[in-house]
Amino acid sequence: MSDRKTITPTHRYRNNDKLIGIGNAFWNMSEANGVAGIVGDLADGVFTMADGHHFVNFTVCSYLDLDTHPKVIDGAIAALRRFNVLDHCIPRTRVQTPVLLELEESLGELFGAMVISAVSTAAASTGLLPLIASGHLGNGTRPLMVFDKNAHVSLANAKPSCADESEVVTCKHHDLDYLEDMCRTYERVCYVVDGADSLGGYAPVKELADLQDKYNMLVFYDDSHSLSAYGQRGIGYVRTHAPILDQRTITVATLSKGFGAGGTAVLLDGYPQATRRLVERFAGPLGYSQKMNAAAVGAALASAEIHRTEELDQLQGRLRTNIAMFDSLLDTEQSGESYPIRLVPMSDDTVVNAAQQVFAAGFYTSPVFFPIVARGTAGLRVMLRAGQTEEQIRRLCAVLVQAGARPAAALDGPGPR
Ligand SMILES: *Cc1c(COP(=O)(O)O)cnc(C)c1O
Repeated sequence: MSDRKTITPTHRYRNNDKLIGIGNAFWNMSEANGVAGIVGDLADGVFTMADGHHFVNFTVCSYLDLDTHPKVIDGAIAALRRFNVLDHCIPRTRVQTPVLLELEESLGELFGAMVISAVSTAAASTGLLPLIASGHLGNGTRPLMVFDKNAHVSLANAKPSCADESEVVTCKHHDLDYLEDMCRTYERVCYVVDGADSLGGYAPVKELADLQDKYNMLVFYDDSHSLSAYGQRGIGYVRTHAPILDQRTITVATLSKGFGAGGTAVLLDGYPQATRRLVERFAGPLGYSQKMNAAAVGAALASAEIHRTEELDQLQGRLRTNIAMFDSLLDTEQSGESYPIRLVPMSDDTVVNAAQQVFAAGFYTSPVFFPIVARGTAGLRVMLRAGQTEEQIRRLCAVLVQAGARPAAALDGPGPR
């Protein structure tokens, strides 16, 4: 027995001991206090639990409430009837019904790009990033893969497979100076970053475009948080502001958040049609795992139609109004920003209790606290949506203030500030 080998992990890119050690304490405490592991039926924007408790979810990423839009639900059902199959399980590169082609054509027109669909953004990034690392999606040169420190976990998970094809480094958040250094040092660089961060904030797309222009740098954006919620026809932050939309900019964006359907869109510009085949065949799960099913496609087609109408502007407008309403009542670091995510600061000791209080009053907000975030940065994550009512937002903010949140300055009462 004793001469059998023990494995010593390198942990160059991941560490489950650390991840689970830190994460499980957080989850166990959340669940023990009833602010995780919640089950309820959803109707008319309100959850009802088995014990009769009602609540409105203030931490859901469906910013325009398209996930419950009657046309989106009907679209899902209609597509199943129209295509007569949920998921015909064979690689689409061999045999496919027109279901994905119809979607990709529609989304291609909507976003003005070559669109390749996939079952999820996680699957798409898992497949695309190693293809970029090997130079096959790009100009043939293996780029240094620079992952932003805050890149979404679905991106960071691709580090080990990218490292087998190229070199991988992690840089500080939006560290443009470091990126320029790397651009001077390496033949080619690919920067991997979120277009819109999950705690608010946007990528510096203009400054990155300067580096793309000067050094031919590739940028892989995950713009999942801003699709639909931001921009004309909901094209998202990156495609609204990035000055460079050609082979050097690759974007993935989930269709399950603001878009309200399911699946993901890979957005490519300036690539030949042959690239579509390369991606379909060799981008990991896109070649060997399931595709978006017909229900998700039907929902996405219906959502795309809504994106083409004034209704989208109205929904975006309502979202903006709700964000402004929230900011007029509560002070957060994100106040005044256009994105729909707010972190209401609380202390590590009180945040779970605050979440419980808020939940008892009929609102779900998700607590984040040490050890999953640094000590002193705990808070309740709140996401505004188009469908929340003024009354709901006012009541939520009143409860949050009772639970220790800082009211907006204007509410401090009369007198000079
Ligand atoms: C939510 C999210 C994802 C996951 O998207 P799926 O399509 O569900 O895989 C990926 N990236 C970012 C930045 C996200 O916010």
